[in-house]
Amino acid sequence: MDTKLNYINGQWVPAASGKTAETRNPATGEVLALTADSSAEDTKTAIAAAKKSFYETREWRDTDGEARSDKLLEIAALMERDKELLANLDTLDNGKPLREAEGDVSDAIHCFKYYAGIITAPSGHSYEVNGGFGPMHSYTIAEPIGVVGQITPWNYPLLMSVWKLAPALAAGNSIVFKPSSNCPLSTHRLFEIFDEAGIPAGAVNLVLGSGGAVGHTIAASNDVDMVTFTGSTKVGQSIMADAVGNLKKIGLELGGKSPNIIFEDCDLDGAVEWAMVGTFFNQGQVCSACARIYVQDTIHEAFAQKLAAKAAAMTVGNGLDNPDIGPLVSEAQMNKVLGYIEKGKAEGATLLTGGYRLTDGEYAKGFFVKPTVFDNCTQGMTVIREEIFGPVACIVPFHTEEEAIAMANDTEYGLAGTVCTKDIGKAIRVMKEIRAGILWINCCQPTFNQAPWGGYKMSGIGRELSVHGLEEYQETKQVNIALDPGPIGWYVNG
Ligand code: NAD
Repeated sequence: MDTKLNYINGQWVPAASGKTAETRNPATGEVLALTADSSAEDTKTAIAAAKKSFYETREWRDTDGEARSDKLLEIAALMERDKELLANLDTLDNGKPLREAEGDVSDAIHCFKYYAGIITAPSGHSYEVNGGFGPMHSYTIAEPIGVVGQITPWNYPLLMSVWKLAPALAAGNSIVFKPSSNCPLSTHRLFEIFDEAGIPAGAVNLVLGSGGAVGHTIAASNDVDMVTFTGSTKVGQSIMADAVGNLKKIGLELGGKSPNIIFEDCDLDGAVEWAMVGTFFNQGQVCSACARIYVQDTIHEAFAQKLAAKAAAMTVGNGLDNPDIGPLVSEAQMNKVLGYIEKGKAEGATLLTGGYRLTDGEYAKGFFVKPTVFDNCTQGMTVIREEIFGPVACIVPFHTEEEAIAMANDTEYGLAGTVCTKDIGKAIRVMKEIRAGILWINCCQPTFNQAPWGGYKMSGIGRELSVHGLEEYQETKQVNIALDPGPIGWYVNG
């Protein structure tokens, strides 16, 4: 069977121990490939390669912005050539419907093109200053941060990798990258593309393996200047603690439990459809899912019935067949979601549809959960408080706008939120009250490379995508030039 290796200092290498792990197809349980199961030592070798590349050989760092832009466009073109393969890898490895994987690949290609563009755009500021020192010009330049460690989750395997790799590369950093061991295949293919495109040795390093060995070593290393992480809030906290040794810069994109507030004056069918997207897209394994659904009491009954009917009609199957939803990513994730469903039932939520694993026939070997809708949930219930990360909608009725806002904000998270109403004043008023980084009005989930992505509160630190996403990977240097280089008769001479 094919073994996927690490990519360190421009070479494909196995884990020094020779150990491998398996990655499986969640629709069938079959092993797709073996992957290097790397240790802390392998990770340190990759960090050393990145350090040498940034501080000694400096090939990528010293490549000028125009040439870096050209290289990013070349990567985008190679991804375009491999589009079908990349999408298939994500569907096989993650389980998501093929058309969703194809959408992810298109977004990922556009992300490289986007950063190829903005790295050549004007940047920095200049000021005419004096301050009693004589006439001066002060201006800022952006520089790469150095050795950047990047760690990603399994829910959008290729896209989450690219959201980090494209801006960090555009900025000229050297990278040590660890994808989720659940779904490493599309990122591995992307590194084959980096190799083909001739990114200088050591500028991009891939280390496959577990979070405890590889991820922790990256976050704790004093030779890493920055670590950016997307994943659970719990691991994000451990990354923050690990990063303290050299006060490395951190970027954290963490979990969520986002609200969707639906007012009586909404377009009801539109609101139902967006709630479907906000709950069931990617099998509900979406950090910004808005599956905590607050519905005004006057339309609550009608909304709940429509949502439950649509959820019950969803096709569930192997992602390659393009069903409405595919399997969850792993047995562990499925069991976690089923555990939340049991808690919902035990704590008194009304189960309208779904609520169980599918096991007959073609489902037997995969991790399929029937789309689930709970009604009459209350704020204290576990399904309302904790991130489920699965296809489970939880409806809570509300009476007044104030009540809906208070319940929406009653969470430790702050990633996203949705408001559905035809009253534009109300939409903007409520949007401003929601303590979260991404808000949708009369829609839910659309995401753009041009707009910043990130959370308030325990949903994270920093922003990805957009010009902010590039700036996260840059240091800003202030440069001051005295316009008259002669003595100014100040300080020692009074
Ligand atoms: P996870 O936190 O379990 O793992 C994420 C990554 O961290 C994996 O590569 C894992 O191997 C690694 N890791 C695990 N332990 C580590 C450690 N001690 N040190 C360093 N790295 C370690 O998350 P997951 O289950 O892969 O993904 C689901 C989570 O990701 C959800 O909470 C979801 O909300 C979040 N997420 C957030 C965003 C966002 O943009 N805010 C996007 C996607 C997913």
